[in-house]
Amino acid sequence: MSSQNTFSKKIISWYQEHGRKTLPWQLDKTPYRVWISEVMLQQTQVATVIPYYQRFMEQFPTITDLANAPTDQVLHLWTGLGYYARARNLHKTAQIVRDQYHGEFPTHFDQVLDLPGIGRSTAGAVLSLSLNQPHAILDGNVKRVLTRHYAIEGWYGVSKVEKKLWQVSTELTPLTNTSEYNQAMMDLGASLCSRSKPQCPVCPVMETCVAFKEERTKEFPNSKPKKVTPVKSTIMLIIEAEGKVHLIKRPPTGIWGSLHCFPEFESLEIMENSVEHLIAQGELKALTPLRHTFSHYHLDITPYHLKLPRIIDNIVMESQQALWYNLAAGQQVGLASVTQSLLQQINHS
Ligand code: SF4
Repeated sequence: MSSQNTFSKKIISWYQEHGRKTLPWQLDKTPYRVWISEVMLQQTQVATVIPYYQRFMEQFPTITDLANAPTDQVLHLWTGLGYYARARNLHKTAQIVRDQYHGEFPTHFDQVLDLPGIGRSTAGAVLSLSLNQPHAILDGNVKRVLTRHYAIEGWYGVSKVEKKLWQVSTELTPLTNTSEYNQAMMDLGASLCSRSKPQCPVCPVMETCVAFKEERTKEFPNSKPKKVTPVKSTIMLIIEAEGKVHLIKRPPTGIWGSLHCFPEFESLEIMENSVEHLIAQGELKALTPLRHTFSHYHLDITPYHLKLPRIIDNIVMESQQALWYNLAAGQQVGLASVTQSLLQQINHS
């Protein structure tokens, strides 16, 4: 028996006994349903994803329903999952599938890979999990299992290391039963081979795992080399009146694209000059500062809360789209996570 066979057989039989088989996206598997789950599961735990997934599927049972929905509704259903570029790409992809593939998710690997927001691993996962096509995958969980099992050195963000991991993953992936094998690898990485406490003694591939044998599981995967992250700062102004707050829709590109946020100012002085007329009518209070971390920088936010006696129209600076957001009822718009945290602060202040 080849080492590929031994490895995959052990993984699959472990899965048959211990793996998850009844998650919402594992029932009635279609490329569309699996694709939504895969995108939601990037950077997010299964338990968090389940209610989001169910709400999404209720609203958009088909890819055409998703394509036809307004962006604000898609972002609203995504609010809380973070990484909003994923939601915007999802929406774009649905529209491409509606327009170019008559609403049927494509089933050729290259066509899937061409869609916005779908990389090699997601394309492989969608086609293997839903249609049992023989494609390898390499998500975070699989990377962790493979780097440990073969003691693969180097941070996997480096292309040489990633290439090596793809090679290993492809060699190990069986041509039949690929769906079960890929699901099994993801489950193994999410359960036994977890980041902080791998449970090696009960792992199906413990006997051949180099990191376990050499007691080096903590070393793998090697972490990203540290670099200093730049810090930027901004002032945000929460204008509240009659149980509503004033929100501005951001442009579609850039941070928090198309999401609703509070008006921002470069400095306290600029803010005071810009909304002097409003400050004169209300009560301005400083809130607790917070830091939001993006992949490339930290953003230090100094928030202020301005309570007005009544709603004043046309208070928006420049030609931005704005709305008065109802604090009790909410609205069908996407909110940046920072907007949500600040709303909580004013609820408790
Ligand atoms: S033996 Fe331990 S480190 Fe190796 S794959 Fe299994 S759980 Fe992961």
